[in-house]
Amino acid sequence: MVNIPVFAPAIGEDTKEHIGRALDVGWLGMGAFTKEFEDRIASFLGLRGRYVVATNTGTSALHLALRAAGVGPGDEVITPSFNYVAGHQAVRMTGADVVMCDIRDDDLGIDVESAAECITRRTKAIMPLHFAGVPCHIEDVYALAKARNLRVVEDACQAFGSSVVGGKIGSFGDLAAFSFDPVKVVTCIDGGCVITPTQSWQEGLQRRRFLGVDKETVVRYANQRAWDYDVVCEGYRYHLNNIMASVGISQLKRAQEFISSRRSVCRAYSAAFERLPGVRVPATDFQGVSPFIYCLRVLDGRRTALMGHLYDHGIECGIHFVPVHKHTEFAGARRSDMRVTDKVVTEVLTLPLHSNMRMDFVDRVIKGVSSFFSPVKEYAVR
Ligand SMILES: *Cc1c(COP(=O)(O)O)cnc(C)c1O
Repeated sequence: MVNIPVFAPAIGEDTKEHIGRALDVGWLGMGAFTKEFEDRIASFLGLRGRYVVATNTGTSALHLALRAAGVGPGDEVITPSFNYVAGHQAVRMTGADVVMCDIRDDDLGIDVESAAECITRRTKAIMPLHFAGVPCHIEDVYALAKARNLRVVEDACQAFGSSVVGGKIGSFGDLAAFSFDPVKVVTCIDGGCVITPTQSWQEGLQRRRFLGVDKETVVRYANQRAWDYDVVCEGYRYHLNNIMASVGISQLKRAQEFISSRRSVCRAYSAAFERLPGVRVPATDFQGVSPFIYCLRVLDGRRTALMGHLYDHGIECGIHFVPVHKHTEFAGARRSDMRVTDKVVTEVLTLPLHSNMRMDFVDRVIKGVSSFFSPVKEYAVR
């Protein structure tokens, strides 16, 4: 019996063909495929009057977005502790201080009241996370930002393709950053992008993405190089190369299929677990959600026992996340009360979720979890 991994890449012949064609072009660096990938992202997200800047990782997208929001030394950025550490490190990279707030008990997104309590004269921006692909209470975040004159950088790394009433995440609002890393719903193997609301910021981001060089974007998008150029600002080496972009293009063509298949699995899980005593299923029907992970909450301190039981059944699971305020490097950062976060992080358990997941895997996960909570029924079935 093979183990069921938490994540599994959805790389088919189509992706291999795209990579092969990109290699045959013979232009390995940032180029025409980078531009095509950005154009396809814009059309997939339904962008109007908003602009895409592709990057080599989601972390660099977050860093660039924070810089575009004007975040720098002396500033503070408020973000939940309940997140992967990439956003927090990106804040550090700007020279600003990260301030951590609590989350809501339902969608595990930012608790806007807790964020409001953290605001000081130094606060420059709020960085909410759409956890697991489930949109947070983003309207409340924008209302707070407007009232207190703050910028918003959405950590949308887990929410590519998710939408709220106003449209897909990234298609409205201030700045958003996506990740296309190896385990994300759409992958470039490694990649990311920033969405900006103005063309002049797009141009600024393009220069910062490429060492502050003024001409690189336009020339390289034609698979060429400029030999006379100027360096006009601080910059990094954050561009997305043609080969990784070609992987992203192949994946984007199948994004809707990936999202729909993941949604079906999430709904099957929730239907199976909803009435189990001792767990809480995600507070969503997955309508409009592009599910990155399926997060089950295991109550009464039984998570470790359930993990052991699943492991015995060849089912791997994960924990998202260790809260950032518990990490050595961030223990001294200013933060709010972490009542909800400190409880939630003892409960969350990530079950296997793949695009086009094998039905026998789905069945095994459902039986594995159910048999832990109602062993008698399971034996009766056998
Ligand atoms: C994946 C992810 C990142 C980092 O993206 P990379 O592309 O791996 O750099 C940041 N934040 C969150 C919430 C993520 O899920």
